[in-house]
Amino acid sequence: MTKLVCPECRRENEPERIYCHDCGARLDRSAVKTADRNDEAPEEAHRRVRSMFDPNRDRVRRTVMKFAKLVLAAFATAAVIEILLPPDVPPQRELTGLAPQIALELERATPGSVPVRVTTEEANAYLATTLKNKRRSLSSWPQFERAIVQFGDNTCRLVVARSVFGYSVYTSASSRLAIANGALRAEITSGEIGRLPVHPRLMQFAGFLFKDVASALDQDRRTVGKMRSLQIQPGAITITP
Ligand SMILES: [Zn+2]
Repeated sequence: MTKLVCPECRRENEPERIYCHDCGARLDRSAVKTADRNDEAPEEAHRRVRSMFDPNRDRVRRTVMKFAKLVLAAFATAAVIEILLPPDVPPQRELTGLAPQIALELERATPGSVPVRVTTEEANAYLATTLKNKRRSLSSWPQFERAIVQFGDNTCRLVVARSVFGYSVYTSASSRLAIANGALRAEITSGEIGRLPVHPRLMQFAGFLFKDVASALDQDRRTVGKMRSLQIQPGAITITP
């Protein structure tokens, strides 16, 4: 690199400097500029100058960027719509009469007594009553609205609706349930936010989405954990004491 020699004190200054590092005298920078220009081959300089004024270069780049942004925006919009769409759940029903005494029935059961069969409708009536009584332990933001269970083929799906800025946002998790060592275990196999599927591996970390509901149902989970086994068929769960 060229050094700039100070005209006053003869100190060698870095080529970026305008004033001398030692005495502050103004340096003669004309040497640097000529050196830079001379390093560049004429064809290179020509190309550089031409590309600076090439109208196509910026236009192509702008078009590509515009298209990429459009695709991204479309994906983001689609994801938001999928998230806001309610999943396939039965409409909310008014609670009428006594909720099925499922917990009582299970607590009374002794080893060897007849299996307790609970239909989806009974489970949901029970769930609605239980969660209504435990409203205080459910999240206030986003405000808990309701929870629904659906019994499928060997899986139990839990759907929780919460109010986010006035919208009902649904989170769902499908789990395989099993009783092992006196505890009810749930292995999440799939999940959705609204209608947007969430990868099962990601769902392993989504437990916090259902934490308040799970803790409100803690007593029931413990009761079921004391049973011998459970079977889930579409529309019903059978618990064997
Ligand atoms: Zn100097």
